[in-house]
Amino acid sequence: MKIHEYQGKQILSKYQVAVPRGGVAFSAEEAVEVAKSIGGEVWVVKAQIHAGGRGKGGGVKVAKSLDEVYEFANQMLGMTLITHQTGPEGKVVKRLLVEQGVNIEKELYVGITLDRSISRNVIMVSTEGGMEIEKVAAETPEKIIKEPVDPAVGIQAYQARQLAFSLGLSGVQHKNAVKFLTSLYKAYEGTDASLAEINPLVVTKEGDVIALDAKINFDDNALYRHPDILEFRDLDEEDPLEVEASKYNLNYIKLDGNVGCMVNGAGLAMATMDIIKLAGGEPANFLDVGGGANKETVANGFKIILGDPNVKAILINIFGGIVRCDRVAQGVIDATKETNVSIPIVVRLEGTNATEASELLEKSGLNFEVAHNLQDAAAKVTSVLSR
Ligand code: ADP
Ligand code: MG
Repeated sequence: MKIHEYQGKQILSKYQVAVPRGGVAFSAEEAVEVAKSIGGEVWVVKAQIHAGGRGKGGGVKVAKSLDEVYEFANQMLGMTLITHQTGPEGKVVKRLLVEQGVNIEKELYVGITLDRSISRNVIMVSTEGGMEIEKVAAETPEKIIKEPVDPAVGIQAYQARQLAFSLGLSGVQHKNAVKFLTSLYKAYEGTDASLAEINPLVVTKEGDVIALDAKINFDDNALYRHPDILEFRDLDEEDPLEVEASKYNLNYIKLDGNVGCMVNGAGLAMATMDIIKLAGGEPANFLDVGGGANKETVANGFKIILGDPNVKAILINIFGGIVRCDRVAQGVIDATKETNVSIPIVVRLEGTNATEASELLEKSGLNFEVAHNLQDAAAKVTSVLSR
């Protein structure tokens, strides 16, 4: 799950990670109120969307008076912000973060995520903050310093010190950076985050080390033990079909193609997408309906797949291991009748009672194309599209 920057900063400050003073605003009037409560003379108005690159897209503005805070807030709320992370359609801005303007001396980078190849969380720092870290990683990878953390003992003081030195910090800045990195790691671990990225991490002229941006993602499988974090979910920022699918416990990810896929098991779903592509088609989604494919799951799957107007054909690929294929076939027949699916459906059922299943489908009077193996299924679904 993703959250907004202002929510990330709320979590960070609970863990004693230094963040600028600020607050969320849903209107230009609220933005001015927040600015007044912060005090000072410079504020930054920041669009809150689940995407980065806002600065370049006009989603981060420095205001030098309360009138400017009002003006920028007014401009930003309701605007469609397009950044390299939103896709060309952009995201509508509905919330703002108003925070104190920070006196930046240097912009650095710190990120924490799991490195699956070594089964450890890794802290990454770079002096090249404020810019796209993907670009730094591609062009000058030696400028990213990595430190793996042993899960049994957590972050060690010497590691935080080394990382702070590699950022070129000394004196009070070094001391503050050590505290920052240690607290950030604790926040990451304590919230079951899958990513905590601070870009930029800034050092101020006064020697403070502060998170100027905050991108935190969480492991969905651990959210059950963080009800407070789950409260931060913003459905406006998520794909509506994916939100709908999560209500039925379906693993669904929308893609750009036109072949809707309904498959049991994540591995088979991946293989199905591959084989559609090999046959020259483009999958419209990843959909794993889970182990027990019955009438209800198939009907829910249809609802989600057909909610995407790009879908022009459906490929159902179910392997009957514990579930019997004839049961699944009956589920597919009932769900097709009930949901009035009008686009071509190719069905491949393999495993227990596959022959009975084929007979049921063929005798149903519905317009299924029955396929007998993966290749046949992919060929059939791409050929119905070209008809
Ligand atoms: P994004 O990554 O989406 O572009 P950031 O939060 O990183 O958004 O902000 C972009 C840039 O705006 C930062 O690199 C920094 O230079 C400036 N900025 C952001 N917040 C503040 C702040 N509170 N005070 C001063 N400058 C800021
Ligand atoms: Mg940033």
